Amino acid sequence: MEFSQYHVDALMKVTHRPEVVFTEGRGMWLTDHAGRRYLDYMQGWAVNCLGHAPDVIHDALSAQARKLINPSPAFYNAPAIELAGLLTANSCFDRVFLASSGAEANEGAVKLARKWGRLHPNAAGERRHEIITFHHGFHGRTIAMMSASGKAGWDTIFAPQVPGFPKAELNDIASVECLIGDRTVAVMLEPIQGESGVIPATAPFLQALRALTRERGLLLIVDEVQTGMGRTGALFAHQLAGIEPDIMTLGKGIGGGVPLAALLCREEVACFEPGDQGGTYTGNPLMAAVGVAVTKELLRPGFLGQVKEMGDYLGRTLLRLSERHGLQGERGAGLLRALQLGRDIAPQVVEAARDLRPHGLLLNAPRPDLLRFMPALNVTRDEIDLMADMLSQVLASHGQ
Ligand code: PLP
Repeated sequence: MEFSQYHVDALMKVTHRPEVVFTEGRGMWLTDHAGRRYLDYMQGWAVNCLGHAPDVIHDALSAQARKLINPSPAFYNAPAIELAGLLTANSCFDRVFLASSGAEANEGAVKLARKWGRLHPNAAGERRHEIITFHHGFHGRTIAMMSASGKAGWDTIFAPQVPGFPKAELNDIASVECLIGDRTVAVMLEPIQGESGVIPATAPFLQALRALTRERGLLLIVDEVQTGMGRTGALFAHQLAGIEPDIMTLGKGIGGGVPLAALLCREEVACFEPGDQGGTYTGNPLMAAVGVAVTKELLRPGFLGQVKEMGDYLGRTLLRLSERHGLQGERGAGLLRALQLGRDIAPQVVEAARDLRPHGLLLNAPRPDLLRFMPALNVTRDEIDLMADMLSQVLASHGQ
């Protein structure tokens, strides 16, 4: 089928889309309307943790769809109970609320912290509601999450913002300390800032933040929507720093491509009462069954070790590319990595990689001078080598 035969104008233009309609996907590969294949290093922005259309998700979806799709969040269902049990058994958290998107889980985290701040007022007896977040952070696209995010321009685009999110500098503990006031209730951050270019919060910074928040009676919230569910080689990225936060949010990988997210907290913080939080699709068994299947796959012995091994291999491969083409190095953890190009050519590189023959390569450029790599967690060495060959070809043709 020709691209012109699709009536794309009925869709809102919320992003610049190339003239490609994807029709099929399998593992690390996508196929478009013309039958052309692409090696996919975006994977739905780090969503397809087991690659495109894995059998475990197909099987979980079809089996659950035949049994029960949505009895309403007003009732228990077995997959939601099982998923919550798997998540609490493998983390420092005790309670789980299931949602459908990362932004929705983060909204829940903010509500939970504000409720807790009402129950634990300051010395003057006033409720605490301010949550310190970080410049360049990204927490989603609802109005409140755009306010919590530190993305340039987001403070004005849909002004007025939701108040109560002062911004500190990542990896600068003094910048957090000086924002703490008598209305502060929590600090919220991504263990690795993903959308702003794969910028890790260092382990010493995370440890200092945990100590500071404990000392000052504040909650520590980690947004692991991008870094959680094995992406860094640990089940959750904060575990790499050896810290135990009070609240964590998950999204993306937990559903392996379907709309599923989660808000987790420790028992002491679990202060929602009936009516405080909900949503028509929250905890529906169809998505929760996928979450169970994905989580069990990640917990299979050796799976996370393999993610770490492939992450190290991807890191070494990107470093070699950097040396060969005179770039600025690589950074990241596990299978969330970035290549620093040193010049603002990333959008052109993305386009040229997509147009490569015989197969295209799908890459992501969160910044004009940087490429981000988010392959499936079961990516193979051969698929990393192939990507490196393809990218090397593109870089050479861009004078690198
Ligand atoms: N938090 C982080 C760290 C993210 O990377 C994202 C999405 O990229 C979100 C939140 C928002 O998730 P969603 O797009 O599912 O709402």
